Amino acid sequence: MLNKKILIVEDESIIAEDIADSLIALGYRVTAIVYSGEEALQSAAEERPDLVLMDVNLQGEIDGITTGENIRSRFQIPVIYLTAYADDHTLRRVNSTKPFGYIVKPFEEKNLHTTIQLALHRHQYDCLTNLPNRSFLREKLSEILNHQKEFRGVVPVLTLSLDKISRINSTLGHDIGDSVICSIAQRLTNGIENMNIVARLEAAEFAIIIELVAGKQDAINIAQSILEIVAQVIIVESFEVYVTASIGISLYPLDGSDADELLKNAYTAMYHAQEKNGNNCQFYASNVANYSMNRLSQEVCLRNALKRSEFEVYYEPKVEIKTGKIVGAEALVRWNHPKKGQISPGEFIPMAEEMGLIGSLGEWVLETACRQTKAWQNEGLGQLRVAVNVSARQFEQKNLTERVSEILIETGLDPKYLELELTESLVLQDETAVFQAFSVWQSMGIRVAIDDFGTGYASLSYSKRFPFDVLKIDKSFIRNIADDRQNAAITVAIIQMAHSMNMRVVAEGVEDERELAFLCEHDCDEIQGYFFSRALPKADFEALLKSGKHWLYSIAQPIAQPQSETGSRQ
Ligand code: C2E
Ligand code: MG
Ligand code: MG
Repeated sequence: MLNKKILIVEDESIIAEDIADSLIALGYRVTAIVYSGEEALQSAAEERPDLVLMDVNLQGEIDGITTGENIRSRFQIPVIYLTAYADDHTLRRVNSTKPFGYIVKPFEEKNLHTTIQLALHRHQYDCLTNLPNRSFLREKLSEILNHQKEFRGVVPVLTLSLDKISRINSTLGHDIGDSVICSIAQRLTNGIENMNIVARLEAAEFAIIIELVAGKQDAINIAQSILEIVAQVIIVESFEVYVTASIGISLYPLDGSDADELLKNAYTAMYHAQEKNGNNCQFYASNVANYSMNRLSQEVCLRNALKRSEFEVYYEPKVEIKTGKIVGAEALVRWNHPKKGQISPGEFIPMAEEMGLIGSLGEWVLETACRQTKAWQNEGLGQLRVAVNVSARQFEQKNLTERVSEILIETGLDPKYLELELTESLVLQDETAVFQAFSVWQSMGIRVAIDDFGTGYASLSYSKRFPFDVLKIDKSFIRNIADDRQNAAITVAIIQMAHSMNMRVVAEGVEDERELAFLCEHDCDEIQGYFFSRALPKADFEALLKSGKHWLYSIAQPIAQPQSETGSRQ
């Protein structure tokens, strides 16, 4: 990571020089210091730095956010924003650009270093395909459509999703999954003629826009050739991997008049292709209502699931490193679908959010988890703490803070045993609302944790403004921590910084002994993960508590009792 080239865009020269000195002391190279957006664009084009530090307020015509967006989409260079104070509006604008990092001035050198490390790291993930993102795509598509309005041309919009990529991730690992996505991105960029834009929408989803087609048949031919290109074998490390794709196509002007509508309809068609088992392309058409019917019935199921008691809360132990003992649990919801079996929250939480069901589901999880924890405490199974996830949409519920306190009163759980886990992105979303909720919760004694830290906006200094009690390092950093020097360095830096801000540090996704040993050695406070135990149904968790399973710190070996092994049903 060191020796990376950094461009500084900052209109106050004293601050700029200061930052430059810090960067050089940290081992980075400073390509230039510039004072305006215009100069920044020129310097980025000429010097191609690895990263840009961008003041939000700049001299000249264009401000920092617009400049940053331009640099990111034109040159795929990650941008970290700097600002002394941000009002809600600025913050929302910064947030909408999905920045690689965000630092509030004044900041400490260590903090700057970690934010840069995280940004460079995320860039390898995130921009792993080097493709433009959704906002760039929408902008370009709108330009093309404006142009075509005059010429009355047809523009096909394709969305493509790789089939069963999650299976590759789970069987061969995320690194291989990422490499597969990269190869596909390259094939798409190099292999399609007359293609104007390929963009990456989501992890394994792309959009392709083609100009200069005569009509529908051309679009079919192109989609067919894309399916063939995708289906060719990919060699990653020593694996031969085969993937297929589902493609949805909408046609301008037939299926929509603007970028959003065309993308939405292409998506609908793509879901239809997925429903036909993938490896095919579908046009948007009214009969795609098939898909919607299916979705509708799924929604009906989800809507009734709460009434039919199909949800269940699982408990994943949180273990204190110092003592090796279970000090609490994270409540994780599961859906026991009567026909499909158990469905993980990754699948249905987004749907529940879209349908406006997350409020009642979230309340149910909170209440169940608090009641259960109180019951375990009453049984003498320890003064356990329970952590409950709160998603961004739950924040839109006006009475969230009141419901939390009502539930605590109803269940009798002392607020100090409740921890709420929020994600980084949420904190940036609606600062005022989050701030208010924070104050109320913390005054009640509830602990607030920042979840999946490092995957969002790398806003370490941000956490200064929100006094989190707990920081949870995302499992992607814990993976192979004993061998992966980059992950190790980032994790150590995060732990030190969090401690300097008086936060407890929890590492999630600890899967083996070496990961645990590393975390012990570097003063992490608590761990969760498969190494100790998966999330368990309540009876199994209770059995685990009773078994007294723990490890000895010095050897970091779990001492399993026979009962605990029968527990896992996952
Ligand atoms: P999260 O809060 O970051 O939860 C951690 C996820 O990592 C859980 O997945 C857990 O089972 C999994 N995990 C734990 N240890 C390991 C490990 O050693 N290795 C690996 N590879 N994975 C591990 P799960 O239960 O599928 O939950 C996924 C996400 O769904 C959660 O991420 C959380 O954001 C969300 N979620 C779960 N329950 C609720 C809920 O009640 N409300 C809300 N709003 N979100 C929830
Ligand atoms: Mg969580
Ligand atoms: Mg997490």
